[in-house]
Amino acid sequence: MPYPTLVACRHCDALYRKPRLQRRQSARCSRCSTALYRENAAQLDRIGAITVAALVTFLIAQSFPIIELDANGITSQSSLLGALVVLWREGMQSVASMVFCATFLFPLIEMIALLYVLLPLRRGIVAPGFNLMMKALRFVRPWGMLEVFMVGILVAIVKLVSIARVIPETALFAFAALTLMLAVIAAFDPRGLWDVVDRLRARGTDRSPSPQHQHPHHGEGRETPSPTTAREAGLDCCHVCGQLEARQPHAHDRRCTRCDTPLHTRRPDALRRTWALLSAAAILYIPANVLPIMNTATLAHDRGDTILSGIVHFWLTGEWLIAAIVFIASIMVPLLKLSALGLLALTSQRRSTWRSAERTTLYRIVEFIGRWSMLDIFVIALTVSLVRFGSFGVVTAGPGAIAFGSVVILTMLASMQFDPRLIWDPVPGATQERLQHTKEHSND
Ligand SMILES: [Zn+2]
Ligand SMILES: [Zn+2]
Repeated sequence: MPYPTLVACRHCDALYRKPRLQRRQSARCSRCSTALYRENAAQLDRIGAITVAALVTFLIAQSFPIIELDANGITSQSSLLGALVVLWREGMQSVASMVFCATFLFPLIEMIALLYVLLPLRRGIVAPGFNLMMKALRFVRPWGMLEVFMVGILVAIVKLVSIARVIPETALFAFAALTLMLAVIAAFDPRGLWDVVDRLRARGTDRSPSPQHQHPHHGEGRETPSPTTAREAGLDCCHVCGQLEARQPHAHDRRCTRCDTPLHTRRPDALRRTWALLSAAAILYIPANVLPIMNTATLAHDRGDTILSGIVHFWLTGEWLIAAIVFIASIMVPLLKLSALGLLALTSQRRSTWRSAERTTLYRIVEFIGRWSMLDIFVIALTVSLVRFGSFGVVTAGPGAIAFGSVVILTMLASMQFDPRLIWDPVPGATQERLQHTKEHSND
């Protein structure tokens, strides 16, 4: 049985009555300050329009060359897909696939899925296959990395300026515009659409109680005392749509009544899977740093560059900012992710109650920065496809790139498998007055 008037924090499991929010307001969890709920029904038109514009810009960005190199009259240019073909032919199929998914396939699916659910919703129609599209949207969102790719283009330009004249082409500007539009789309939380659909379905069937009835204390933050967490209240939170359902301990294969996802109180085997993925990432971190990620072959020399030697090269040639960006993205972020997830998994396993709020913040940071380590992979893809001047110089990708890309993907998977509610499970029930209060923040 679903409980549409309640909402559980997805990071700490605290249970709240769903606050009635004004336009563009959002509610935050008072225990771990995760965003609980946001009123964005009024934004549908704006997000729909930006998504259409982003899709057109995306097609332009993918059809034209990004930059052109001119080395003493020999020119070479490349579009993103051209770069992927070069990588593929050189035997770097795994790196080519990673870049293809992160910069082409997943962003495209995200925009199409978003338009597919948004456009009919504006007219009050729930599109057929709405549940499936929302699941697709949720799946591809963390893996689309066009903003990281944009920074990768800039790093590649700085790198290439030293060997040739760099001429910006159409797609460079298209990618820049696309990055801005996608930032607006990324700020939109599609989970709010489930509630829009609930309201539409309730109006259609007229069997559900009216929204007024569902919100007896609407408009104010203080509510009747509620049990501390969804788990203590005997409720399971659907990890796809966030609906709360009464737990039935002896029922098998229970599914969410709203989106048909299997229900679990906690992600099954969360810690074991996190550890497995983390260990694999930690092992691959060694070849990722020891093996060359790029080989430069010229008449004079044949040189392999590891991640670190590439950074040193930037530093020595005076490109300190680029050296710092690549150092942070490629060395610091993977190390931080490995150690932070290790710490989170270890403390949760020991059922530690130490600094739960800070550990939740750490988890949010890991989730947010994970994608930025892909930067070097994008720089490699662009450099490899552009620097092809025969005897003058050819750059190829090295085996370190495969290991490095795998580390990024494995640590991202590890942070997705980890269940942050495990951090809060051992914490004794939070005081009632803390939970009765839902902070409201205005967005503007
Ligand atoms: Zn919380
Ligand atoms: Zn659900």
